[in-house]
Amino acid sequence: MDKPSTVGFVSLVGAGPGDPGLMTFRGADRLMEADVVAYDRLANPQLLLLAPHAEHIAVGKQPDHHPLPQEGINALLVQKALEGKRVVRLKGGDPFVFGRGGEEAAALAEAGIPFEIIPGITSAISVPAYAGIPITHRGIADSAAFITGHRSTDIENPEEDWSQGSLGADTLVFLMGVKNLPQIVGQLIKSGREPDTPAALIERGTTAAQKTLVGTLNDIVEKGCLISPPTILVVGKVVEQHEKLSWFENSAQRPLFGLRILNTKSFSGSNGNNQIAEHYPWDEFDKKASASGAEVVHIPLIQTAPPADLNRFVQAVEDAVLEQKYTWVVFTSVNGVSAFFNQLGALKLDSRCLGGLKIAAIGTATAQALQSWGILPDFVPAQFTGEELGKALPVNSGDSVLLARSEFALPELPKKLILRGCIVDEVSTYSIKSAPSNRMVLQQLQNKDLDVVTLFSPSGVHALADMLLDAGQSDPLSEILARITVACIGPTTAREAGKLGIRVDIVAQEHTSQGLVEAIEKWRKH
Ligand code: SAH
Repeated sequence: MDKPSTVGFVSLVGAGPGDPGLMTFRGADRLMEADVVAYDRLANPQLLLLAPHAEHIAVGKQPDHHPLPQEGINALLVQKALEGKRVVRLKGGDPFVFGRGGEEAAALAEAGIPFEIIPGITSAISVPAYAGIPITHRGIADSAAFITGHRSTDIENPEEDWSQGSLGADTLVFLMGVKNLPQIVGQLIKSGREPDTPAALIERGTTAAQKTLVGTLNDIVEKGCLISPPTILVVGKVVEQHEKLSWFENSAQRPLFGLRILNTKSFSGSNGNNQIAEHYPWDEFDKKASASGAEVVHIPLIQTAPPADLNRFVQAVEDAVLEQKYTWVVFTSVNGVSAFFNQLGALKLDSRCLGGLKIAAIGTATAQALQSWGILPDFVPAQFTGEELGKALPVNSGDSVLLARSEFALPELPKKLILRGCIVDEVSTYSIKSAPSNRMVLQQLQNKDLDVVTLFSPSGVHALADMLLDAGQSDPLSEILARITVACIGPTTAREAGKLGIRVDIVAQEHTSQGLVEAIEKWRKH
């Protein structure tokens, strides 16, 4: 192979402690430009969606299992950079806090590879913060130390090691301490900490599985006997703040806390102005569900593609614009709106060409999408279903209506309009195909931590069933989906799921993201 003329570049990026919202903008930016992502077990895999086309390499260590030794990881980074690739080394928390990032950077420096360090929010501060424990606090703790509880095997006499200075700090934060918890606690008491010093163990912080146990040095080992990594141990008076400041695990304020929800909705392309939003939209549902306490994993099952019959679309636009053939143009999804206007742009037209037409949207989300293109719809039905739109659209008999929909669209809407004497034309503004992230959806469904999966459209339902069948699940209902709660945006989606043998547990009363979050909250209460 010819040696590429330019050497690549390596970014050592901190992924934060688990909650994907805690990564930096710069880290996200580098992911979006990466050719290769080498990621750790502790980095949230959802972040890989920012780099859907990059090569993804799992180099993470399981607690007792090392898939790739550190030298192997160093060599991999060097090799990929020598191939001219832009490499992101995505590491849990901060790369330089017990992350062996220093060793990786040294290997790169030695090989003459340009690199940068993009710090991340270390679990040492963020996990206590999510447990309501400030690691310093005026009048209570003036200093804090981060200590590894998993001592390197090549240090002969480790106890001497961490009794140097670090034990003098007011707050002690131990990482990797689960295995040696009894030894750590014993050593702390031996070196002078009072046995009634407050201590907390926080397991899987910043995720739906976060669990905080509070005690003292006296009883924390006993209390923590069932705890497993990753866990942070905090020792010091600041732990007492937890009782007052615990917010993340506060289920009175965050009724969905503890639920892990997979949102499979397609990424509804924005106007293209915000790259992060396009790759990783923290969409309405995600925001509302996580504000209510859920951990949301958003991995689309489907994505939009140009319609199979592009000529038909061009014809419909020309009929609408030049021939003034229609009275109404009706949009039934956010995707339909983006596809329609993107296609208009490709024809060197913009919203002005719709000036003489009346425009309807099926619901508020579609109406908002239209507004982002400068169109205020003339009509939005009270209930956001095709059937209701067909019943309530203020048409006169003989009106011509253009339905700008997907290739996969249900017949209720045109049926109702035809019964009311309209002449109805349908045009596919987009088709639907499986998203490249489909494989990640399957992994999530197989993960025993997943509680709820959302379905936002009949095409999403079909994609889910197809994916499960492809994965060898002859009966989607009895296998993977059996222990997962299925939540649908509305009756049309639920009906389609029912037809394919998918049990539906929750259907939103109001067919919006807010409505779906409310329905999940109501279900959780019972
Ligand atoms: N570089 C990372 C730390 C890597 S060492 C950082 O800055 O956070 C791995 C240890 O980090 C785990 O054993 C655990 O002690 C801690 N840790 C990482 N993520 C955690 C989480 N979500 N909850 C609790 N502890 C976590």
